[in-house]
Amino acid sequence: MIGVLALQGDVREHVAALTACGDVRAVPVRRPSELDAVDALVIPGGESTTMSRLLQTFDLLDPLRKRIVDGMPAYGSCAGMILLAGEVLDGRPDQQQLGGLDVVVRRNAFGRQVDSFETDLEFSGLPGGPVRAVFIRAPWVESVGPAVEVLATVPARTLTGADAGAAAGRAVAVRQGSVIATAFHPELTGDLRVHGLFCELVKTATG
Ligand code: GLN
Repeated sequence: MIGVLALQGDVREHVAALTACGDVRAVPVRRPSELDAVDALVIPGGESTTMSRLLQTFDLLDPLRKRIVDGMPAYGSCAGMILLAGEVLDGRPDQQQLGGLDVVVRRNAFGRQVDSFETDLEFSGLPGGPVRAVFIRAPWVESVGPAVEVLATVPARTLTGADAGAAAGRAVAVRQGSVIATAFHPELTGDLRVHGLFCELVKTATG
């Protein structure tokens, strides 16, 4: 059973995408007992500082950190990527990290250029051509540790203008073991391949 952290963000869309992948049950997670019951967790987009505050309010921060250290598969989208990162640049001082990904991310990284944009990305390991990626005040991955695989980067042609060069080539999808993260929102496009990849990782990890 795969949980979707249901404190903020597009929870319903993630539950629907996971369910549409086939033989998987997806449930919202709001309480520690619900977290205990799932084999894996999706952390949706939203606002990472608010979400980290809500995690504390709902007594989920420490249990979730522990599950991640213990190897629970997790998938973070956008704010979820920020929460899973080991380190955040341009974060708020009270922002809490879950860990799980040995990466440094930059919050609101595309902000000076465009708040939101869409582009087609080559996504390593996904058959069937490029993925349509929707970015909404998204982070990018500034640097990755040795155990992290970059799955997708921003193509050079995506953005124009003075800062376009800074965005080109930035990592926006990563994997470390059974933890994956995307800076974009595949739950919004009807393309199930990223959720399908996560479901496969969960199956492999949990047997
Ligand atoms: N900008 C948000 C943050 O800093 C993330 C945006 C999103 O999840 N769509 O947390």
